[in-house]
Amino acid sequence: MTAQIIDGKAIAQQVRAEWKGRADALKARGITPGLAVIIVGEDPASKVYVANKVKACAELGLHSEHIVMSADTPEATLLEKIAGLNADPKIHGILVQLPVPKHIDSSKVLEAISPDKDVDGFHPVNVGALTTGNMRLAPCTPYGAMKLLEKSGVSIEGKHAVVVGRSNIVGKPMALMLLQQNATVTICTSRTVDLAKFTRDADILVVATGRARMISGDMIKPGAAVIDVGINRLPDGKLCGDVDFDSAKEVAGWITPVPGGVGPMTITMLVANTVLAAERSAK
Ligand code: NDP
Repeated sequence: MTAQIIDGKAIAQQVRAEWKGRADALKARGITPGLAVIIVGEDPASKVYVANKVKACAELGLHSEHIVMSADTPEATLLEKIAGLNADPKIHGILVQLPVPKHIDSSKVLEAISPDKDVDGFHPVNVGALTTGNMRLAPCTPYGAMKLLEKSGVSIEGKHAVVVGRSNIVGKPMALMLLQQNATVTICTSRTVDLAKFTRDADILVVATGRARMISGDMIKPGAAVIDVGINRLPDGKLCGDVDFDSAKEVAGWITPVPGGVGPMTITMLVANTVLAAERSAK
């Protein structure tokens, strides 16, 4: 069997077009959805992510503010900045690019963002809403992964979904979203004994470990949908996922490539969350 490749770039374009329509409808009512992205420090990878987020907003005609703060910014100054943005009617979404420098408590920062403007979906109120099945603003990467499954026609209800990884930004929310769609969900971690026993039983396998190519084709159930969230830089500079794509695609029914799978969806769902937050504030 050769898997159907899930084209994240094409699906991201399709989803962006849907949300552009909603953004245009708001603009026709005099409301331009606005996103503020704050970066503290000079982390090169973070700078690239932030630039891409701002660019995606511009492509959809959204207002965006790119706020750069020096690495030695006191925590109180960052919290004041967030308070100002919470009160700013032009801004509907606020994102602080992680990681923040060590002297700043990231939990405090995430909790300072108004839950209504928390387009990353990391505020405890939004985490709680997801946990109780009343999703408000969802974390962008797992939300994007769910969209890939939906747009590829993968059925979720009643299926066994295995999520490898339990981070707050990917693994846990992914498991909750699959549960909400009535999958039977197993979460595996670095402490799981006999990982392959679980992955081989997965109808839907989501891998978010940051371990290059750790899932090989012989660990996958024939016909499974495989979502590879991992982004790993190899010594030759190329990117690869947490799944060994070449062996996995011979067994899986659907598979996301890296790059070009989940990656393009993350920013797309950030833009979607910004438009959604603006729609809610307009009500
Ligand atoms: P974390 O490091 O926060 O979490 C990794 C998780 O994987 C942990 O729960 C860990 O288990 C688990 N894990 C590690 N090794 C193994 C193993 N051998 N077997 C089973 N489980 C294991 O990573 P993130 O969730 O933040 O990110 C995961 C990957 O996704 C990274 O490659 C990251 O770059 C990528 N990513 C991609 C995004 C995108 O836009 N496409 C966005 C965000 C992340 P334990 O808890 O026991 O330590």
